[in-house]
Amino acid sequence: MSFWKILRVLTTNACNYKCVFCHNEGQDKFNGSNSEFLKFEDFKIIIQSLEDTELKEVQFSGGEPFMNPETLKMIQWLNDNTNLEIGCATNTQFFTDETITALSKTRINLHIQFPTYDKVRFKSITKSDLYDSLILNLSKLRKENVSFSLNYVLLTPNIDDFKHLLPFLYDNTISLKLLPYVNDKTLKHNEFQKEIIPFLDSISCQHENQNNGSLKWWIKTPSDKVITIKYINSPCFKFEFGICKNYAEIRLTPNLEIQSCLINTEGNLKLDFDLTHENKKHIKDIFETSWMNFTHC
Ligand code: SF4
Repeated sequence: MSFWKILRVLTTNACNYKCVFCHNEGQDKFNGSNSEFLKFEDFKIIIQSLEDTELKEVQFSGGEPFMNPETLKMIQWLNDNTNLEIGCATNTQFFTDETITALSKTRINLHIQFPTYDKVRFKSITKSDLYDSLILNLSKLRKENVSFSLNYVLLTPNIDDFKHLLPFLYDNTISLKLLPYVNDKTLKHNEFQKEIIPFLDSISCQHENQNNGSLKWWIKTPSDKVITIKYINSPCFKFEFGICKNYAEIRLTPNLEIQSCLINTEGNLKLDFDLTHENKKHIKDIFETSWMNFTHC
């Protein structure tokens, strides 16, 4: 491998939730007035500049990416003009029926932020009242055949809240990604795996170490369908640089910074010149330099 495999495109730093665990992908926290939006034309030139590289996948994120009014257009353009895999982390709260129909005509796979199945806890985590709207959007997405799974952040090693979510996943045949909460404290005492791994082993019919930092379980539902649960063990806990480099994901921020490490942003490069067709080689060079410079945590 000699280049980035995944481009994570942060289309904005703004979000309508205020989740306690949010790292905002390493960007400055949104304070209600410092919003930044990636422009569609800049995005298009960047993707065109990288067309002869080993890039395989674009994952949209934020903030809440759909607060940028051009995110849907970026997804549609990527769908119609490239063969890249397309994913998007979203809380769905800016989806209209038209958005859902438009997404159903693309190959996107959504990763939907699902903090808890408990309505009161949902409000305390996100500081929003939008629980019912999230549940409604999930059923609309399912009806329109938009592919999605849920992202659930494990805030502490305690898995009681997660257990309450399981019947909902079974009833609706929804798969889930579990993400341990990474902060200064949990980085020092990573105890997340103590309860969750034996529990998932005990209810699954198959499991696999995917050798890229994630563990995956297949679970049979009471109605004999199968869902999967993935545990994403952040390489940052033990500064496992080899796993991180092998994952090969680079971030593009709304203000056009190129960010290779989530924790240490000192080495970020910036596309601080006009993003025009004439400068496509220059854009590609910057991404190549960031790959070469990415040598340690
Ligand atoms: S390089 Fe950065 S993102 Fe990767 S494992 Fe090290 S600290 Fe984490």
